[in-house]
Amino acid sequence: MSEQPIPIAGFNLGEYVESSAKAGDIQVDAYAARGNELQRSPATASYGSSPLLSPHAPGTVEPVPLPPPLQNPAGTGESLAERAADTLSHESQMLGPYPFSSLSLTENPSAESQGWPGLIFLSSYAYLQPEQLRGMGLSPADAVIYSEVMMPHELAHQWYGDQVSWASYHEQWLLEGLANYISLLLLERSQAADVQLTLENYRQILASRSREGRRIVEAGPVTLGSRLSSSHFPNGYEIITYGRGTWLIHMLRCMLRDASRTPENPAGDDTVFLALLRSLVQQYKGKEITNTNFEEAVEAVLPKPLWFENRKSLDWFFDGWVNGTAFPQLELSGAKVARTAKGVTATGIIHQNDAPFDLVTSVPVYGVDGDHQIYLGRVFAEGAETRFTLPAPVNVKQLVLDPYHTVLTEP
Ligand SMILES: [Zn+2]
Repeated sequence: MSEQPIPIAGFNLGEYVESSAKAGDIQVDAYAARGNELQRSPATASYGSSPLLSPHAPGTVEPVPLPPPLQNPAGTGESLAERAADTLSHESQMLGPYPFSSLSLTENPSAESQGWPGLIFLSSYAYLQPEQLRGMGLSPADAVIYSEVMMPHELAHQWYGDQVSWASYHEQWLLEGLANYISLLLLERSQAADVQLTLENYRQILASRSREGRRIVEAGPVTLGSRLSSSHFPNGYEIITYGRGTWLIHMLRCMLRDASRTPENPAGDDTVFLALLRSLVQQYKGKEITNTNFEEAVEAVLPKPLWFENRKSLDWFFDGWVNGTAFPQLELSGAKVARTAKGVTATGIIHQNDAPFDLVTSVPVYGVDGDHQIYLGRVFAEGAETRFTLPAPVNVKQLVLDPYHTVLTEP
């Protein structure tokens, strides 16, 4: 009997070494395969077989090397159980109480993972350390995905995916993007550089070309879900859902953080974004969420600086970025810093190149003072060219757009 109603139930059968850890009262069990199941059942692994893995050779199917048998399944399972217990504690703090009395992680002999209620089917690759993965020929970004991102991502599905479900394939990106971004938020606390590496990797993959020479980003908007994969874009679903989906949540988070900046709190913080993550779980627990529900929930807490044309609406973001395939290049021209009687003003023109004519983007503008980059404000870039004027501190000499990569742009 499950402890409460659950939308799906799974099990796993195999010869495992069991290791345990505790997250408060919650029992966390990790099951590592005895020997190497992959050698008995070699995954026909290609870059597309894992939703998170990046292509090594775009347009070709290149096998992922098989991991060596676990040298020490008991030790590996133990360290995994401890890491999962720690992740569970952090995600519970972030999202609300974990809904079950136990969590089981079981080795899945393939490149893929899935998070089911109280149970995670975890890829054999995620049992390995980054050094081991790199030693097998995986790129540094793929090693980060398997060793740092995958388990916390699957664990986040206990909230987003298993408690809050998608209403249809149009929302697959939302649950995957949220689960993936929650994993990156935790990783950012200790390994911020790995988060940057992951986001940059997604950007490069979105820009990579299909066999026919088209950029993968053109497969379609995230809201097409599994229909993104086609003969033209065989991995369209994986790359757009996880790559672009993660970036869209990153853009929202960074907009909310910048909007919270005040003279007393110049760096801003994630209070609004984190409260949103938590309240969505409360509101949609045991229910399905639609893209419209999500847009309305963000709009309900939308701070004034993100009101485009003075409307408390995110239609501009959902039209161009969620339901569109925007992947612009941003360029700054005519940048000037002028000293007047009233103070210092920064002016310039933002160009959105290679973008839909009606695309609206919230672009952060920074001033440069020696080695320092000072946030001046966000500008709504609308269409091809947008003139802006922002107040600036006296010591600012140059201007720069989005130096911390918070907007998804073409590399
Ligand atoms: Zn997922």
